[in-house]
Amino acid sequence: MATLHSLKSQLGFNSSDGSGERLSDAQYYGAAFDTFTPSSAYQNFIIPQLSQLVTTLLSSRTHISVLEVGPGPWTALKDLPIRLRQRIKRYAALQPNSLLATGLEEWFHSTSPLPSLEGPPDIRRIPFHLDGNQGGGYQGERFDLVLFCHSVHVYGISTGRWFVERALEMLDEQVEGGMVAVFHYDGLLEFDGLVCHTTASYPTGVLSVADDDEMLDCFSRLLVGFTINEATVRAGCRLVCRSKGRHEEADQSQLRFSSAEVMVAFTRRAVLLPELALMIPSGRVAYMLKNPQARLNDAALALKPESIPQIQQCVRWALTHGFSLTVLGGGHSGHCILPNMAAVDMGAFNKVHVLLAAGEDGDPGPIIVAEAGCTTGDIIRQAMAMGLTAPLGARPSVGAGLWLQGGIGHLARLHGLACDAIVGAVVVGVDSGAVLCVGHVPSSHWPAGATRPANESELLWAIKGAGTNFGIVVSVTFRAYAAPTYSVRNWVLPLRDSTEARRKLGEFDELVAKKLARNCSADAYLYWDDGHLRLGVTMFESSHEMIDTPSPKTAEIEKVFGPEDSSATVDGVGVFESEMYMSGMHGGHGGGKTSAFKRCLFLKNIGSAAMVGKLLEAVETRPSPLCYLHLLHGGGGAVSDVAGDATAFGCRDWEFACVITGVWPRGDDGTNSAQAVIRWVYTVAEEMLPLSSGAYGADLGPDPRDAALASTAFGPNRWRLARLKHTFDPQNVLAYACPLPRATEGRKARVMVAVSGESCAGKDFCAAAWVSLFTEKHLTARAVSISDVTKREYAIATGADLDRLLGDRAYKEQHRPALTAFFQAQVQRRPRLPEEHFLHVVNGATDVDVLFVTGMRDEAPVAAFSHLLPGSRLLGVRVEASEETRQFRRGCKGDGVVVGDGKTTGRNGEDEEAPNFIFRNDTAGNRAAEGFAEERLLPFFHDDLRRLDKMVCSVPDFPRPGIEFRHVLNISQQPGGLALCASLLQAHFTGDWAKIDAVVCCEAGGYVFASALALVVNVPLVLIREGGKLPPPTVTALKSSSHISSVPKGLGEKNIEMGRDVMPRGASVVVVDDVLATGKTLCAVLQLLVEGGVGVEDVSVMAVAEFPVHRGRELLRRGGFGKVKVQSLLIFDGL
Ligand SMILES: Cc1cc2nc3c(=O)[nH]c(=O)nc-3n(C[C@H](O)[C@H](O)[C@H](O)COP(=O)(O)OP(=O)(O)OC[C@H]3O[C@@H](n4cnc5c(N)ncnc54)[C@H](O)[C@@H]3O)c2cc1C
Repeated sequence: MATLHSLKSQLGFNSSDGSGERLSDAQYYGAAFDTFTPSSAYQNFIIPQLSQLVTTLLSSRTHISVLEVGPGPWTALKDLPIRLRQRIKRYAALQPNSLLATGLEEWFHSTSPLPSLEGPPDIRRIPFHLDGNQGGGYQGERFDLVLFCHSVHVYGISTGRWFVERALEMLDEQVEGGMVAVFHYDGLLEFDGLVCHTTASYPTGVLSVADDDEMLDCFSRLLVGFTINEATVRAGCRLVCRSKGRHEEADQSQLRFSSAEVMVAFTRRAVLLPELALMIPSGRVAYMLKNPQARLNDAALALKPESIPQIQQCVRWALTHGFSLTVLGGGHSGHCILPNMAAVDMGAFNKVHVLLAAGEDGDPGPIIVAEAGCTTGDIIRQAMAMGLTAPLGARPSVGAGLWLQGGIGHLARLHGLACDAIVGAVVVGVDSGAVLCVGHVPSSHWPAGATRPANESELLWAIKGAGTNFGIVVSVTFRAYAAPTYSVRNWVLPLRDSTEARRKLGEFDELVAKKLARNCSADAYLYWDDGHLRLGVTMFESSHEMIDTPSPKTAEIEKVFGPEDSSATVDGVGVFESEMYMSGMHGGHGGGKTSAFKRCLFLKNIGSAAMVGKLLEAVETRPSPLCYLHLLHGGGGAVSDVAGDATAFGCRDWEFACVITGVWPRGDDGTNSAQAVIRWVYTVAEEMLPLSSGAYGADLGPDPRDAALASTAFGPNRWRLARLKHTFDPQNVLAYACPLPRATEGRKARVMVAVSGESCAGKDFCAAAWVSLFTEKHLTARAVSISDVTKREYAIATGADLDRLLGDRAYKEQHRPALTAFFQAQVQRRPRLPEEHFLHVVNGATDVDVLFVTGMRDEAPVAAFSHLLPGSRLLGVRVEASEETRQFRRGCKGDGVVVGDGKTTGRNGEDEEAPNFIFRNDTAGNRAAEGFAEERLLPFFHDDLRRLDKMVCSVPDFPRPGIEFRHVLNISQQPGGLALCASLLQAHFTGDWAKIDAVVCCEAGGYVFASALALVVNVPLVLIREGGKLPPPTVTALKSSSHISSVPKGLGEKNIEMGRDVMPRGASVVVVDDVLATGKTLCAVLQLLVEGGVGVEDVSVMAVAEFPVHRGRELLRRGGFGKVKVQSLLIFDGL
């Protein structure tokens, strides 16, 4: 299947008849959307990437405005999850084709894809680059996201930078983080030195075009960008399309082309690279890259620091401006450089120091200090000169990526992996740019200003197997071993048919490999040569004696395979050249005339029937005669002596590393045949993964096809690494190294606790006590003060001492009035600042299960902020202490009450909400606070809640398209569901059931759960029904329908009724409902209760499920019911 790129160059040639005119924007847009059938990339790439971008934007603002350039007949935003579409408040589009613009308007009108727009979509019939009216006449107007979804095609890649720069000028300067995002098909997008914030690609995209003359004419025209007037040229183009495209068996009417999708997103900082390049030597690096994909990529610029402070400058620059970096070691992976991204080339750090014994404390004996720009060959050569070695890999040109991610070589069975020999490292931390020393770093190699991090052992643990993710490693200290001599013997065994292949592989595994001592290994190669399948075997025996004759054990192999075809005795350098890959196969690959792509899986029992079957099938389906499988015999010895969780390299239980090696002639780099070889490697890896003990993490990167392999790469250490990644690389500076899951993925939704209370009540003290209780219970917890954000900004603006503002109470008191005025002035300029601050602290702590937020200024934090954290639970806890206690604690005075960190308000202020819990903090010590957390907060982590949560199934597009319906009533249809729910409602009620006069519920969902609860707590049930269904006398209230109910919009309001005399006046009641979403039903029920003589202060509400995104609590508060205590068992994201 041809790529669009290759097709385009062919068509360009065919259409160069000189009579064509360049397509106008209108011609382009008019045709593009009729011609291209959306490919799988839309669902699998564009939507997830757009969702990610919008989610990132939402971490710094609450609402989003979008300008879309050339959207076509619908917006690319239409399939975002509803919770993200709801955050888009303004939409503008530039659509030069009037027909499409009208279609877009009509489509918006009929589908309302962005339900929260504050005005109609602003669709203008002009192109982006109107002369003298740049950006389409939006002078002065600013956006959070400018989106080019495939429309840069029109303008041509060569001018891409100009367009992105103009678009960047249209981002809102007031709020950091606005983005220009470009989606494009067909391979690379370069922007001439602009540095991107994020990039992603979808290499497996496919584009379909109807296989008829008219469509192919249109398609050819769009690809070449010109009209094609000559009939003969048009016919030639059709011919090219048909010969290059592929028909699927299932649908012969469509021609398919390979269309890799790329996304590149820029912030206003995109232009800042030159400022760094002034300070750090820089240039292009392509000449020394070993990896063919890396050679095709072109970094925005490769920075080549020559000193550690220069590496620090690179990191600090990335941290300050929110960029990621790639790091270039030996250049063998495909992601050491990436397009439009700055790369740090470690080439200048190329020294090896061999130290026989440093004579220092904890001296591990002879060591090798290897800088990160060294290659395997550099280290082996220099260590050998001192009679030493380290267990590295088999090829001399491979760099630091090898020892930082594992490192399997001929000494692995004897001494373990390369990473196992690492005893220390010098690292530039990517959280701050500090220079860190971990483990054993000899004092002579300790850089100036370096420190040991507090979590040193964790960092060293992570470096040993996942070291490319946690910092820029400057050097490592290896434990050194005596350099051996190797006896190398080769066999090449022809395999006549699959029966013989099975037998020989079985014998190789059982009679040879499994019998070898640890100083020996036997690699196998399964490959085709001269049209014949062959098994190559290389036996390595290491010894500190000169090896004249093979040891008796290895002599056994001759009984199985006969005498060897060749043999040699070599040293650690000579062994590089004795690889069969270099010397025997395919006439030797050593001439540098081939390129390769590899993925590696760990295997046991390679002689078993199932395994042999898979291996043979793999070589049978090779797309190029040069492809082969290398079974590297590194396991079964010292590698498995190390426990899986002792280092980050978690896959330890294997015998062979199976390197699926796709090879093609170097001249074919970037062509279809190279692509076919890469596809073969991934297909084989995918099919063998279930039989393997995991994948090797080295070389896995951002390619989505690596995701399945990466998920097995670290064995039991995946989640620990995810947490450490968040600690050591919180801004994801090294975003494109071997993929790790996000710390929060796969975890139960978090609990956030807004801790409020009067000044000196002990909020921070309690938060600290609760953190330690949760930590004891093996949950991760942290306390943060939201007011620190303001203090930081205040310190920057006024020159006040931040450390003292944070830590010195008296100093803070002195600044309190000025701080409050500063905050209020900020809020006046940016009314959403409190929400932004809240998001800031919450997003900075995504790695914890429980977050306690103190210093809140809001009287109703749960109502105000819970919608910002859909899927997470926000609880309000008020800490109270008697006036006496508070005075004792700090001698504070005054009539008003200081809320949070400074807001003075009257008690019982109208805006307040009832906190979920009140903790009386009058006694000294931690005991009471801990008891409170144990009784009130810990139950939110109980397994019973998880069980209940699982009983709520999701139904997509119900009751309307775009709504993911959570079937809460399904709980009652599950065995034991109703009983479980009733007992949880009983247990989570914070009042005294003995004082409750009635459980109140509204039809229909509420009836189900309330009945079960009423039975358990033995309290009468009061039923609320639609008007007209209950006998008089009744009281009545008005209820408007919720916009998510199945009732069509605008179909009005209804009365609800309750018997007038069913409860005594002044009764205490608990209202139970199945769902709290918009809060309209609950408001009506509360209104009805008030009509019936129940005081608001005597009502509690319990909901089975809450959907905070609809801001039901805010509606209650605005309706005057803020003081009603509301508890929900489950919290759900979205609708
Ligand atoms: C021909 C060939 C032979 C191989 N032989 C073996 C073998 O015998 N045994 C084996 O185990 N593996 C082997 N490999 C796999 C090899 O370990 C990986 O390709 C490895 O990633 C290469 O590292 P590099 O530094 O050469 O490449 P690079 O592409 O430069 O780096 C690889 C990764 O490491 C990161 N990185 C590099 N330097 C640093 C640093 N200082 N700090 C932080 N991150 C850094 C890069 O950003 C990148 O993510 C081989 C690969 C090839 C192509």
